[in-house]
Amino acid sequence: MTKVRDVVGFLQQVYPPHCEEQWDNSGLQIGSLDEVLTSAVIALDVDLPVVDEAISKGANLLISHHPLFFRPLKRVDYSAYMGELVRKIILNGINVYSLHTNFDSASGGLNDILLEMMGISSSVPVVQHPDGECGGIGRVVVLPEPRRVKNIAVDVRINWEVSVLSYVGCLDRCVSKLAVCGGSGADLIERCISLGVELYITADVKYHEAMLARANGMNLLILNHFEMERASLGGLKELLTSEFAGVNFYLSAVYTNPIRLYKEVD
Ligand SMILES: [Zn+2]
Repeated sequence: MTKVRDVVGFLQQVYPPHCEEQWDNSGLQIGSLDEVLTSAVIALDVDLPVVDEAISKGANLLISHHPLFFRPLKRVDYSAYMGELVRKIILNGINVYSLHTNFDSASGGLNDILLEMMGISSSVPVVQHPDGECGGIGRVVVLPEPRRVKNIAVDVRINWEVSVLSYVGCLDRCVSKLAVCGGSGADLIERCISLGVELYITADVKYHEAMLARANGMNLLILNHFEMERASLGGLKELLTSEFAGVNFYLSAVYTNPIRLYKEVD
């Protein structure tokens, strides 16, 4: 009989809570560690369609990357989206556990999984976590041989199942020093420039941040936040499945990305 506590305890061992950023709110969002686990859904976001998915699978644990609660909730108004979401989660006996920046930072976490999917195993953090045990934000790697940005972009699209990506710089440039930061990693652009990174792969880059990268000769591959981070969840599923052999862990099939690609013909 596996309890929510068992899964949470394991996740906390691998991705220690103290590895999260100060502003973050990872951890148990709703529920009880004492509940007996039926099965679990792993998703990037806690959203109504994801909760419906958990209900349809008979899962009573939702493991999300983005925390359900970021800002203090002042009221649970059922007529508002958040209120309806909280109500549905509680009424259906679903426990929600989030692992956010601790999953990003810890070694073996989101960025390491993304690199492993590219066949890269040795990396160092772009910014070291103050606690030496935690890894840190982003990862820098030096490839054994230089590769064209174009070829790396192809690998990224295939290995991470990314539908669309933008770039800054030159696709034909050969690069060997790369950095990767899943999610909103534009804050690391200056740091990457100072480290001599030749290609930085991240999401949520704004115009002037892209200008800054280009002015400093650093290439960027800019992905969609959802697609980039979702790619890592398969690794999390594998890890949990191998630890809890009798439990079903489902990867959410819901595309919670609020930003859609506009096509002329649909
Ligand atoms: Zn994110």
